[in-house]
Amino acid sequence: MLEGKVAIVTGGTRGIGLAIVKKYLQEGACVVLFGSKEETVTKAIETLKNENGEYKVSGYAPDLTSEESVREIFERVEKQFGHIDILANNAGISSKTHILAYTEEEYENVVNVNIKSVFICSKVAVPYLKESKGVIINTSSMVSTYGQSSGVMYPASKFAVNGMTKSLARELAPFGIRVNAVAPGIIETDMVKQLPKEMIEPLIKTIPIGRIGTPEDIANAYLFLASDLASYITGAILPVDGASRS
Ligand code: NAD
Repeated sequence: MLEGKVAIVTGGTRGIGLAIVKKYLQEGACVVLFGSKEETVTKAIETLKNENGEYKVSGYAPDLTSEESVREIFERVEKQFGHIDILANNAGISSKTHILAYTEEEYENVVNVNIKSVFICSKVAVPYLKESKGVIINTSSMVSTYGQSSGVMYPASKFAVNGMTKSLARELAPFGIRVNAVAPGIIETDMVKQLPKEMIEPLIKTIPIGRIGTPEDIANAYLFLASDLASYITGAILPVDGASRS
């Protein structure tokens, strides 16, 4: 479905991002994954290449909060492949801190990783995506509608992601660029896998579809939105949460 496309996936070293990278590779795209550290980027590439030596995957660890750092990598990617078609803004950190315990440092960290990185990567990508009539897909969250009861800046950052998604969809539609978001529910990444059975089982009972989501469930939505099957879809926030919106 993505033969000949070039995709950049931020936060592509593990969890949901790694599943998106794998899905895009399986569908024939060349993928450049971004991570926060060179070591984790190298490890993710090694894992993927061990799985399939034919995968066209490379990676970098730019500072996503620095326009200069991100621009330099996009220039390299364009030089290597000649075009950039898909930007998946997936990097993100969560927060559960009570409002009174919140430090300015944590506030800034969540805002920088979850909002500023999406703004900067999208801004830098636009000239390339104009050329390719490409797509931007952002990772939002099910908490982006009603909030959550702690860690206020996490849901607030995902409300911002939805706002950027809907606004950029309108601003960039005249250039042929589509912008959408996927809003995952509870997804079985390493963090969730480590939780004790006593915590997980009651949690599963709150999910109408009866199970926790897998990273592949999210990657499938990312594939659909990146593909031509979604050619008339822009400005959408697609819930992939087993109906567990709260
Ligand atoms: P994860 O912690 O497994 O992976 C996060 C990725 O983001 C990693 O690749 C990491 O390198 C990258 N990253 C983190 N901080 C960074 C920084 N400062 N600079 C650059 N990259 C950085 O998390 P995940 O569960 O796979 O989450 C991926 C996305 O999905 C996030 O945006 C998260 O908010 C969202 N999400 C996750 C869930 C869930 O249940 N797991 C639910 C809803 C939304």
